[in-house]
Amino acid sequence: MSYTGPDFEPPQRRRSPLRRPLTVAVAALVPGALLGWGVYAAVGGPDDGDGGGADRAGAVRTSAAPSSLPPSSSAPASPGDDDGKKPAGSSPAPTSKQPSASRPAASGPLKGKVVVIDPGHNPANFQHASEINRKVNVGTHWKECDTTGTATNAGWPEAKFTLDVAHRLRTLLEAQGATVKLTQDGDRAFGPCVDERARIGNEAHADAAISIHADGSGAGNRGFHVIMPGAVHKGAADTRAIVAPSAELGQRVAGNFVRVTGSAPSNYLGEGTGLVTRTDLGGLNLSTVPKVFIECGNMRDGKDAALLTSGSWRQKAAEGMSEGIVSFLRG
Ligand SMILES: [Zn+2]
Repeated sequence: MSYTGPDFEPPQRRRSPLRRPLTVAVAALVPGALLGWGVYAAVGGPDDGDGGGADRAGAVRTSAAPSSLPPSSSAPASPGDDDGKKPAGSSPAPTSKQPSASRPAASGPLKGKVVVIDPGHNPANFQHASEINRKVNVGTHWKECDTTGTATNAGWPEAKFTLDVAHRLRTLLEAQGATVKLTQDGDRAFGPCVDERARIGNEAHADAAISIHADGSGAGNRGFHVIMPGAVHKGAADTRAIVAPSAELGQRVAGNFVRVTGSAPSNYLGEGTGLVTRTDLGGLNLSTVPKVFIECGNMRDGKDAALLTSGSWRQKAAEGMSEGIVSFLRG
């Protein structure tokens, strides 16, 4: 079955009989796409802070590049809005601070639901190398508190991308009645550290949590992938109770992300399924609520960067995530 996405054909994948019912349900959301998922159980080693980290695909090691070079201050504030007009609900230029105390709608399908959004990295991390390089425990091992994240070749920082999409997603979810909490809103000197990012979701008793990132991999590596927690029970980490609901959340986010953005799953991670399971990310290992990460695309690939820096594409990305979360919360 070929995938007629706008840009490229993902590799075809043999469907696993175990996943048929759920996969069929999700595949129904993704005409022509096959979903299953590959397992990445790699431990240790800094990668994209607590994000994708593309080095497994032999691509550029994101954390190495950006951490030594602060995102160029000459980076365009927000090159993303290709139509110059801000779509409804879009956040102002990523640099501006957003009032954090927005109000959920009085009613809506998500009334009473709590969603925690974790915008990956922090635009000011590059000014706090010693703080973000401090090691924290993620149950299975120790890793950096946080990293700067990657950037487009033109220098637009991932940390600004993640905040922009987080603001759009918050607006969409609040409009449906959800109570939404951000782990950071560009209002912290650095971080928070990956362990605190998980704790914020746990303490909010979130019904769903999502960490937003964009990858920094080699040119030609394209597409999004959703990362779900594998089973971990070590030290402070115990994901056994969230593996199944997080897989459900992950599949619904992936399915709706493809449907709304028209963007294909990653062609370099997850074997064309758009789904990856990992046991080395602190933000997942330490979570006690259903949670996934999403790497929305590859900032270091020209074609993906053109999408990621487009305000209208970011709006669609937020809508895809929102519809995935809504379908998960409404079961
Ligand atoms: Zn990241």
